[in-house]
Amino acid sequence: MIEISKVRKSFGELEVLKGIDLIVNKGEVVTMIGGSGSGKSTTLMCVNGLEPIQSGSIRIDGTEVHAKSTDLNKLRRKIGIVFQQWNAFPHLTVLENVMLAPRKVLGKSKQEAEAIAVEQLKHVGLSDKLKVYPSRLSGGQQQRMAIARALAMSPDYMLFDEVTSALDPQLVGEVLDTMRMLSKEGMTMLVVTHEMRFAREVSDRVAFFREGLIHEIGTPDEIFGNPQRSETAAFLKSATS
Ligand code: ADP
Ligand code: MG
Repeated sequence: MIEISKVRKSFGELEVLKGIDLIVNKGEVVTMIGGSGSGKSTTLMCVNGLEPIQSGSIRIDGTEVHAKSTDLNKLRRKIGIVFQQWNAFPHLTVLENVMLAPRKVLGKSKQEAEAIAVEQLKHVGLSDKLKVYPSRLSGGQQQRMAIARALAMSPDYMLFDEVTSALDPQLVGEVLDTMRMLSKEGMTMLVVTHEMRFAREVSDRVAFFREGLIHEIGTPDEIFGNPQRSETAAFLKSATS
C-alpha cells in the first residue's frame, strides 16, 4: 500500500504541498482531481521519489521513500508511471522500446524481454504494432505503448498523470479503456485525471486537491453526487460543463 502522511513540499519559497494525507490500499484506484497548480503532479513525483519532501512521510509497502537508506531504484521497479507524453526512442520499434527496461533494468535475456514485451503489448491491444516505429502510432496507441512499457516491469503500483490530456478527443476512449481493464484486473492505481466520468466510474475514492491540500476525499458517489464543500462543487461544475 501507499501511505502518504502529513507531506509538505516546497519549491524554494513556494509551498505547494501543505500537509497531504492519503492512503492507497492494495487493489484500490484513487483518482486525484483539482485545478491546475493544486499539487497533483507534485504528489505523484514525491511518491515516486523523483522529488524530495520537506516533512511528513511516504511509505510504499512499509518502505520510507525519502529515507537515505532506501534504494530508490529498487523501489521504483515496483511503480509504473505514465505521463501525458512519453517520448519513445524513435529509432527503435514498438517492441524494442517495450523490451528496453526489462533488458537493462531487470537484466532479462533478449528472449525473455521479448516474451514480456509481446505479452504486454498484446495486453494493451497493440499486437499488430510490434514491428512498427513509434512515429507511426496514433497518440492513443502511443499512450497504450507507454502503459505496456510500464507493465513490462511487473509493477505493483501504477501512477498516471493526465495520460489522456494531450490526445484528440476521439483517442481518449481507447486509453481509458486500457486503464479500466487494469483496474478490473486489480492493479493498484493512483491517477490524476480531468476525465470526470472516468473518475466517477473507476475510482474507489476520489481526492479533490485545492491549493496544496486534499480539500475533500470520498467515494465517487460522495464526491460527485453529494460534495460537502462548496469549492468541490464549483470545481466539478466547471470540470463537467
Ligand atoms: P497540478 O499537477 O495539480 O497542476 P503541480 O503539482 O504541477 O500541480 O504544481 C503545483 C505547484 O508547484 C504549482 O504552483 C507549480 O507551478 C509548482 N511547481 C511544480 N513543479 C515545479 C518545479 N519543478 N519548480 C518550481 N515550481 C514547481
Ligand atoms: Mg499536473
